[in-house]
Amino acid sequence: MTEEEARHALAAHGRSLFARGYSCGTSGNLSVRLEQGGYLMTPTNVSLGDLDPAQMSRLDDRGAHCAGDRPTKEAWLHLAMYRSRPQDRAVVHLHSTYATALSCRIDRPADDVLPALTPYVVMRVGRVALVPYARPGDDRVAADVERLAVDHRAVLLANHGPVVSGRDLVAAAASAEELEETARLFFLLEGRPHRMLEPSQVEELIRVFGS
Ligand code: ZN
Repeated sequence: MTEEEARHALAAHGRSLFARGYSCGTSGNLSVRLEQGGYLMTPTNVSLGDLDPAQMSRLDDRGAHCAGDRPTKEAWLHLAMYRSRPQDRAVVHLHSTYATALSCRIDRPADDVLPALTPYVVMRVGRVALVPYARPGDDRVAADVERLAVDHRAVLLANHGPVVSGRDLVAAAASAEELEETARLFFLLEGRPHRMLEPSQVEELIRVFGS
């Protein structure tokens, strides 16, 4: 994908996520790692529904802002994911409602916070780790994300929201949506008898489809 194509892809995905309620106000940010080096990120204080391809923030290989509008204040989150996931080229961070509600719960295991309710969440998102709460921008969050992202394509920041990476923007956005919809199922099922996938069924999916 050329840089120009990446600029338009970021704007299109932002518009789509915003239009369908995955992002409200100016929350959420997207990025891609460019094949020619460096990154493109959504700018700070702009709604994902109103992104201009020409104004995307350009960062160099080290994550320093080098052109375009000032990047999201959460650029450090994206860079932490990329450092641990060299195979991935896109990161989606949302404050989507149900995933954020799940991030405030204290009754889910921190190493598997999103319940395996459907085969699709296992295949598209995998096991999600909870990152302990700290003030946004606190170095401890970046260190925790970097550590956990080695084995997780998606992490959930406590009392904040999900950070999801993918081989490209289509995959990262699809995983972020699957994560949000699975969190919604979790709350819909609350208080009702229900079946989750057994650990052996999760293992079978990973064996057959990879993860
Ligand atoms: Zn955030």
